[in-house]
Amino acid sequence: PQRRAEEPNGRTRCNLTTKVPLPDAAGQTIGIIGISRNISALKDAEAELKRVRDELAFKAAHDYLTSLMNRGAILEMLDRELARNIREDGSTAVLLGDLDHFKNINDTLGHPTGDEVLREVAGRLLKAVRPYDLVGRFGGEEFLVVLPGCAAPDALARADQLREAIAASPIPTARGPIHITISVGVIVSRDWGQPTAEEILREVDSALYAAKAAGRNRCSLAVPPCNDRGLG
Ligand code: GH3
Ligand code: MG
Ligand code: MG
Repeated sequence: PQRRAEEPNGRTRCNLTTKVPLPDAAGQTIGIIGISRNISALKDAEAELKRVRDELAFKAAHDYLTSLMNRGAILEMLDRELARNIREDGSTAVLLGDLDHFKNINDTLGHPTGDEVLREVAGRLLKAVRPYDLVGRFGGEEFLVVLPGCAAPDALARADQLREAIAASPIPTARGPIHITISVGVIVSRDWGQPTAEEILREVDSALYAAKAAGRNRCSLAVPPCNDRGLG
């Protein structure tokens, strides 16, 4: 068995011990022979390997600037949620947010300030969602948010909370506070009869475009054509 023991220097020593009975000529056990090896170095190497493996897995799925899920990871989550909806007749809301006039910040204050803004926006989005909601960096200044179990009446209100979390107060940066807003396209999967991820992304992008065209700093819901509300 492996045993851990505290050493005087505070480190934990890990021993691997093998014990076998020692028989006499008649087969009677007259003692026990034990061999103990210090395998602390092996254990340290194992722990380091696990740490590196975990770090690599995190980097493969997350965006280096904001630490949000990257595009591949959030799309994988979206696929998973849509598949679950089909099994359980559930509904997921998907939000595509795009910062308004973000290029101005880079152009006037520099790219590093743009980066600061992106990090703070990511933090505010994460803080504004529930623990089981999913937030990813979809592209440069675009964020994809997946709200599992969210149906029509809630979706726009939830999207507006995210929009407000960005607009409510200026973002502190090394170049001073910056006021920025976000436009958000919103789609509710069940309204569209369990669409594919591709359909969701196409329609939520159109909704985002509509929010931009309507003046920015607003949310726009993707409404399916010929639905019972007579819209579309
Ligand atoms: P709109 O309101 O129409 O969305 O205007 P916009 O200026 O936000 O749109 P546009 O797509 O023209 O600009 C997006 C900018 O985002 C351009 C690009 O330089 C910047 N960008 C993309 N990724 C990064 C990044 O990682 N860091 C910084 N600082 N800027 C980025
Ligand atoms: Mg954009
Ligand atoms: Mg933009």
